[in-house]
Amino acid sequence: MANSTETAVERAHRTIHAGGEWLAASSGATREILDPADARPFAVVAEGDEQDTDLAVAAARRAFDAGDWPHTPVAERAALLRRVADLLVRDRETLGLLESRDAGKTVEEGRVDIDCVADAFRYFADLVAGEGAGRVVDAGSPDIHSVVVHEPVGVCAMITPWNYPLLQASWKIAPALAAGNTFVIKPSEITPLTTVALIDLLTEAGLPNGVANIVTGPGHTVGARLAEHPGVDLVSFTGGLISGTKVAQAAAVTVKKVALELGGKNPNVVFADACESEEGFDTAVDQALNAAFIHSGQVCSAGGRLIVEESVRERFVAELVRRAQKIRLGRGTEDGVECGPLVSEQQRAKTEDYVASALAEGAALRCGGKRPEPSPQRPESGYFYEPTVLDHCHRDMRVVREEVFGPVLTVETFRTEDEAVALANDTEYGLAGAVWTADAGRARRVAGRLRHGTVWINDFHPYLPQAEWGGFGKSGVGRELGPAGLAEYRESKHVYQNLAPRPVRWFAG
Ligand code: NAD
Repeated sequence: MANSTETAVERAHRTIHAGGEWLAASSGATREILDPADARPFAVVAEGDEQDTDLAVAAARRAFDAGDWPHTPVAERAALLRRVADLLVRDRETLGLLESRDAGKTVEEGRVDIDCVADAFRYFADLVAGEGAGRVVDAGSPDIHSVVVHEPVGVCAMITPWNYPLLQASWKIAPALAAGNTFVIKPSEITPLTTVALIDLLTEAGLPNGVANIVTGPGHTVGARLAEHPGVDLVSFTGGLISGTKVAQAAAVTVKKVALELGGKNPNVVFADACESEEGFDTAVDQALNAAFIHSGQVCSAGGRLIVEESVRERFVAELVRRAQKIRLGRGTEDGVECGPLVSEQQRAKTEDYVASALAEGAALRCGGKRPEPSPQRPESGYFYEPTVLDHCHRDMRVVREEVFGPVLTVETFRTEDEAVALANDTEYGLAGAVWTADAGRARRVAGRLRHGTVWINDFHPYLPQAEWGGFGKSGVGRELGPAGLAEYRESKHVYQNLAPRPVRWFAG
């Protein structure tokens, strides 16, 4: 299938895939998918419900319990994942464009996302292909052969958010398939299109029917049913803290495995020594801008909390504000646009509410804080919001404590290293954080003390498929990517073989 975009859109409302068939919702319900740049519908998908979910889980269950995939040799599974990566590269333009229209990001961001998705498939293919057939354990006797092997967990339910729709899906689908599982995925109801398209690519790559299933629909019906479903062995969720907590509670009833990738409130700590040279200053400001405003701040690891040393604060914030005001906002598909709209009216309203509460609590608005003037690149009906810098913030403000998920940067200051670390760790989350300094010793010291799942030193945002991603505290449970990201989708089994069995005579008679 050379054109995933057209197929996904042309398929219209048959976006539920169960047992190898594309289906409409059993209720007949549909949902329009809106372009965040103008709020106009550009696609229609099935609005699935609990009944559709049961159908998809039954298909995944059959494919796991009676199908070949869990027993397919690892080399064949790896080869299939590599074919998927090749197909993603082939369809990079159409998928990148689709991601841009669905989530509001720029097309270039959409393309980068697709590259990262292909990387995830390649990484997990290489990881499983390079493994041995188990870990031999020394049982202390030549008569005993003891080995620990890994087996797929079973039927995996996956629930994904709207900010990086296909990337978040791939961090679950690639390891799940590499490990031999079957799955049902529920993408965000507002950005399902690239995940629908990926199911076609999996089929084209040769995945057997029933291994990959998708139900498009809302969280409170499809997502909730997946989390509680007795036919599901594992639920992997990426999204907000409130929905994640509900998923964990529902999953506990059937004691299924749970993986949660939740929100973040990520500190970006800048020491004055990082700004001593002009180049150092320029880099730290530039990256602070990126940290906070890429994808309009709708990034779980967004560096929305700038914690800067008091002595450089004025100069740093002034330059940051100067550059933030120049960010070109517009429809992600337009040339020259640097930042798209927020994904929905709801997300913009939430952002506006946080800014209003910050101002009421004493923050100083340095730039933004409003919707931009409409222009041909920025229709009035689109969900645009200006990059916003709030100065004089403190840790008790809601905007500092809670995840905004919009283009809002708060500024706090410190005088000592201890104070910087205390501020950076003063969050119930713990997903990611950065430290900027020219002092190598301080860099390692501070990185060692930060309670966050990813710590960047003199950088912000990069991740590697081979390195675990996930959070401390309320940022989640478990890890994606890296060997631990594969382990989530496996059960360990200890096979203990007695080569010379004899009676044990524990009981005399
Ligand atoms: P969300 O929690 O509203 O929705 C996420 C998914 O959960 C959606 O598919 C939604 O339909 C579903 N859902 C909602 N209620 C549910 C329920 N009761 N049961 C089951 N499923 C339910 O989050 P969102 O607004 O789509 O995404 C933004 C959030 O995702 C942010 O908090 C962000 O930090 C987080 N996120 C985290 C990571 C990470 O790697 N840690 C990555 C991306 C996004």
